[in-house]
Amino acid sequence: MRTSEVIQAWKSILSGRRPSLAIEITRECPLRCPGCYAYEEGHVSGMNLRQLHDKRGEELVQGVLALVDEYRPLHLSIVGGDPLVRYREVTQLLPQLNARGVHVQIVTSAFRPIPEEWTRFERLNVVVSIDGLQPEHDTRRKPATYARILESIRDRYVTIHCTITSQMMKRSGYLEDFVKFWNARPETKKIWMSMFTPQIGATDPEILSRKERVQAVEELMRLRAIYPKLDMPERVIREFLHPPASPHECIFAQTTHTISADLKSVVTPCQFGGNPDCSQCGCMASMGLAAVGNYELGLGVTAGKVYRASTSVSNTFRKWKRAA
Ligand code: SF4
Ligand code: SF4
Repeated sequence: MRTSEVIQAWKSILSGRRPSLAIEITRECPLRCPGCYAYEEGHVSGMNLRQLHDKRGEELVQGVLALVDEYRPLHLSIVGGDPLVRYREVTQLLPQLNARGVHVQIVTSAFRPIPEEWTRFERLNVVVSIDGLQPEHDTRRKPATYARILESIRDRYVTIHCTITSQMMKRSGYLEDFVKFWNARPETKKIWMSMFTPQIGATDPEILSRKERVQAVEELMRLRAIYPKLDMPERVIREFLHPPASPHECIFAQTTHTISADLKSVVTPCQFGGNPDCSQCGCMASMGLAAVGNYELGLGVTAGKVYRASTSVSNTFRKWKRAA
């Protein structure tokens, strides 16, 4: 982020706005990934994503632009379902979002080709989710298999995102084999790694034990020095060892507004919806902002303390305004 953008983000926090907006642009997805939080009961307003009435065509395009104009985010994440289900609408949206100066991230399984028109936007980051090496990934995420993804991203430049699971940590060298494969691909701009985040009380086989989490952290620390596309600063990797205690303590949850596919329902307390277990959070974005929050500005003051003071000032100011 440039200094001017950091100042803009701070201004937006002080005026009581959240600098980041995420929109679940469609309820549809051709995949059925095990552990998908969007399709769990209670994800949004007591329902799962498939139960919402979503939009398409011009209604979707205008609905998204209206939300962007209302919330005026600096960063917009377009998620799903799979945004490529609505690639025509997204292709219409991108020039208009670019004209508004919004940074856009699209998270997809790449089950179909990334449209060529998308490549001309500098402020666009396409993130492709990949669940491990080919045999495991293909079982979990067909029809978005390795073969299909490699076809979909040909001549494109994308961020590869992998969610580490307990199953991966049971095989020595698994993470390195994954990072090595994608680091060597010309289509890979950078590689991000998260860890599986369960709901409170869940028993999914993907959940990492504490020992596996520590091992994953040690492995990522080692790999980042070898594979330059692994875009994970040490400071961020270390945060996986002590995730935010609650959504209230999570700067990512506090600075991001997530809206679901009916373009009305708000996903709380963070993009996972439902009742996520913060003590086992593995969201890389949350760790990234926690690392920023723990950054020492000097005299024992962290950026997080300044952020909390700023939000408290902005909340008090808004209360005054409402009372006046
Ligand atoms: S691709 Fe994403 S939205 Fe679709 S089932 Fe998998 S995790 Fe869920
Ligand atoms: S992103 Fe992680 S730490 Fe933040 S509220 Fe969600 S589960 Fe909790």
